[in-house]
Amino acid sequence: MADFSGKKALVIGGSRGIGAAIVRRLASESASVRFTWAGSRTKAEELAHESGAEAIQADATNRSALLAATRDAGPIDIFIFNAGICIAGDPLTLNPDDIDRMIDINIRAAYHASVEAARSMPDGGRIILIGSTNANRVPFKGLAAYSMTKSALQSMVRGLARDFGERHITVNVIQPGPTDTDMNPANGPQADLMHSVMAIKEHGTADDVAAYVSFLAGPAARGITGAMQTIDGGFSA
Ligand code: NDP
Repeated sequence: MADFSGKKALVIGGSRGIGAAIVRRLASESASVRFTWAGSRTKAEELAHESGAEAIQADATNRSALLAATRDAGPIDIFIFNAGICIAGDPLTLNPDDIDRMIDINIRAAYHASVEAARSMPDGGRIILIGSTNANRVPFKGLAAYSMTKSALQSMVRGLARDFGERHITVNVIQPGPTDTDMNPANGPQADLMHSVMAIKEHGTADDVAAYVSFLAGPAARGITGAMQTIDGGFSA
């Protein structure tokens, strides 16, 4: 286990799933953790109570609320952008407003909050975005727009790594494969199809992703930046 005593962490979108596992992990490693949530009040309150983290309501589509939450949490040593939604289906019939909302959360909010976090981040800080293995591989129909939002994060971290490298701030994207959460349950109707393209034919867990975050946030990862960290059971192999 890492020791993040004296470090401040902010997780954008931490009330459920992968984000909640990251909150629990960093709090258990003695970081002072805040997280934002949008719709899941009860889950956020329960998680705050259980972990000792502080829950802040801030919808990532509301830029001023998002930036205020990020500013108020600063200076942040470890910044995680996890919030995301997946709108999948036939591109000819998907609602364009739903696609735009996904772009707002998955790309726009990720960029603006990361830059805001970097503004006051101490030297040696960490910016970690949660992307998706679908940035590398799109083996099924219906995922064009979602995958597009996640591949945008790849060039985002490459560029921000250059922008903040002199301050020894590292910027990376973790790209999970199928991970057992509300978004993608291990017993869901698409599970067998997903497993068919994986080397290890099972969903990962949110705790697996949180462990990767902990490693990247720690001192041993100081030289890893501008890079894609894929944890997908061989989905993209
Ligand atoms: P869940 O749907 O289980 O949880 C999503 C989290 O994001 C919730 O905490 C939710 O908060 C938050 N969130 C969503 N919209 C907003 C918003 N507008 N503002 C603030 N927070 C928001 O998803 P996962 O845990 O599975 O996914 C987390 C990340 O991992 C996403 O970026 C997803 O794309 C990515 N991912 C997931 C995979 C999987 O198989 N599960 C695979 C690859 C990537 P609230 O409920 O409070 O609104």
